[in-house]
Amino acid sequence: MTEYSTPKPVEPTVYDLSSPGRVGHTFPQCDVPLADFPAGMTRDDLPLPELSEVDVVRHYTRLSQLNHGVDTGFYPLGSCTMKYNPKINEEMARLPGFTQIHPFQPIETVQGALALMYHTQEWLKAISGFDAVSLQPAAGAHGELTGVLIIRAYHHACGDEKRTKMLIPDSAHGTNPASSAMSGLQVVEIPSDARGNVDLEALRQHCDDTLAGLMITNPNTLGLFDENLAEVCELVHQAGGLVYGDGANLNALMGIARPADYGIDVLHFNLHKTFSTPHGGGGPGSGPVGVTAELAQFLPGPIVDVVDEGDQDEPPLYGLVMPEKSIGRVKSFWGHFGVIVRAFTYMIMLGEEGLRAASEHAVLNANYLQARLRDTYHIPYDRICMHEFVAEGRWPDAPEVHALDISKRLMDFGFHPPTNYFPLIVHEALMIEPTETESKETLDAFADALIQIAEEAHTNPEILKTAPHNTPFGRLDEVKAARDLVLCCWVPEKSGF
Ligand SMILES: *Cc1c(COP(=O)(O)O)cnc(C)c1O
Repeated sequence: MTEYSTPKPVEPTVYDLSSPGRVGHTFPQCDVPLADFPAGMTRDDLPLPELSEVDVVRHYTRLSQLNHGVDTGFYPLGSCTMKYNPKINEEMARLPGFTQIHPFQPIETVQGALALMYHTQEWLKAISGFDAVSLQPAAGAHGELTGVLIIRAYHHACGDEKRTKMLIPDSAHGTNPASSAMSGLQVVEIPSDARGNVDLEALRQHCDDTLAGLMITNPNTLGLFDENLAEVCELVHQAGGLVYGDGANLNALMGIARPADYGIDVLHFNLHKTFSTPHGGGGPGSGPVGVTAELAQFLPGPIVDVVDEGDQDEPPLYGLVMPEKSIGRVKSFWGHFGVIVRAFTYMIMLGEEGLRAASEHAVLNANYLQARLRDTYHIPYDRICMHEFVAEGRWPDAPEVHALDISKRLMDFGFHPPTNYFPLIVHEALMIEPTETESKETLDAFADALIQIAEEAHTNPEILKTAPHNTPFGRLDEVKAARDLVLCCWVPEKSGF
């Protein structure tokens, strides 16, 4: 049995810190006559905490530091690409010229914002090899839904109504079957072969005239580049289907391989992962979709285009256009503009060479870690990996230790745990994605911690089972926390709320 610690507030609340009469504000002298509020509109017993400015600043700064973040430590959460987010992205997203505009403003008055969106579309096209991009979708899963709707619209336009089957490899991210099912398609799982590739034999069996398409993540969630990818895409195309690429793992490919070149028809980008926007708290994200020329007319709009080329004296004029057979809007206004500004800043700061170098270093860092851990942790699909890899968090001679115990123990060393129990095809999976932004020293410290933990699993498993030991809370009952959610742990006695 796992021992759970009793959650108790470790920090005082603002009410505990309150002291009668203390204030944190200064109002200017009143220069108009005082008047009474009408009776019944005010009350005397509003129990707000009374604190000085410095008390408030310290309280909230301290609370903010109880969370692990990529600005405070290594965050190798597989499939999430928790790279460092350069602060210049934030500065650009906060420029008044971007924050003080409104989507209802006349087009001529927001040309700078439209130019930024247009050039972001162009960068994404160049990186992926696609002919057209829409910036509308709000996140990766939303991009998937959009892409699957485009595939449906395409078959519909061809009069091919019986194509209702979407093939999804068993190594897929959970959002893949979810978005296919949400758009009304039937999901069929395809197994992986012993090398972690799509099983070609199984794929062939499903390539018939009911095939809408295949949804594939490449590199896949094992961190492996599918060795038969071109053949996989060809098989699907020969059967009349289209290939959806889950582009969440683009961090391995920038400037090296373009998805459109190896047969993907439609793909989403996770701007918040690959192009560095903070996303640990769950959003906002941005999941633009790129497509081949054949599918461009189905994209959601509006899309930014050059409506007047301009000349030597006049800059080009940008406008918003709706593709001819568009599936419609998938988001209000123009998508998550602030995230797009951050991604654009990231791209132009790094440039073509820099983006390629980012991918090369992401792959190098993952392979370095994999090599350092190979002798201690079993790597079920052991070959050169891309930007992440999956190890097993278990040993036959330490049966009581699970991946979760390893992850909890890592927190004692100040590291965010890797992704646990995903992909599902690896037992006790530990999915590790170091990203390019970490130094060799950090990678070595992380590998040393994992090697020490493996030793403890054999000599002192108790220290793993009871971890973490030095975090504000000990081990929590995660199932109870999700089912029995208590969002407010303290209510003022005489709150009146
Ligand atoms: C993150 C991720 C998604 C979903 O993206 P969101 O932006 O979180 O909706 C889909 N597929 C893979 C492989 C991912 O890592």
